[in-house]
Amino acid sequence: MRILLVEDDGDLQRLLKKSLTDAGYVVDTASDGEEGHFLGDTEPYDVVILDLGLPKMDGVRVLEKWRKDGRSMPVLILTARDRWSDKVAGFDAGADDYLAKPFYTEELLARVRALLRRAAGLATSEIEIGPLRIDTRASRVTLDGNPVKLTSLEYRLLSYLAHHRGKVVSRTELVEHLYDQDFDRDSNTIEVFVGRLRKKLDANLIQTVRGLGYCLEDPSVEQGDHAKA
Ligand code: CA
Repeated sequence: MRILLVEDDGDLQRLLKKSLTDAGYVVDTASDGEEGHFLGDTEPYDVVILDLGLPKMDGVRVLEKWRKDGRSMPVLILTARDRWSDKVAGFDAGADDYLAKPFYTEELLARVRALLRRAAGLATSEIEIGPLRIDTRASRVTLDGNPVKLTSLEYRLLSYLAHHRGKVVSRTELVEHLYDQDFDRDSNTIEVFVGRLRKKLDANLIQTVRGLGYCLEDPSVEQGDHAKA
């Protein structure tokens, strides 16, 4: 899952980026409204964390522009302004959630998980797919109740597929959501990581859909024909 963090307070930006990275997300950052708007306009993000008081372009304006252009990613606004009118302006501009500063990082992380869950149509923070169980709070994975040790990239890959379970996810989409903007992207490496994941998990969990991508599904459930779907 890839997150855009738009925050002009350098210390807070560094702190949040570290917390989000430690929690298993890929994070791009912007320090002013124009740069933030550009990134949100050109890169696909799973969640955006947007400060309202920003240089060059106010957060509310950034959000209004995205929504006007049809960008529908979940946006959580951060604001030092605790006035009810600012919250209303934020929601009316298209925000999905807000957090007033100061806040606990744990609460921000919980809200991000909730936004991702909602976008994926999931009811709980534990995702169960056949023998596989993913605890998105602790970034822990078990298979038939046994812990599976994954590298951070393997976990990101699995988590992305799990949030899109039953859907075919292309390699390009995976590359876009698993790496930050500075990474030298090569979609061939995705194949390598999928191969490693398959070795660590039930090999039938991740299906290759020829020419289209990958699909994570409970192998005990009857498989549909994705090429026709
Ligand atoms: Ca600010």
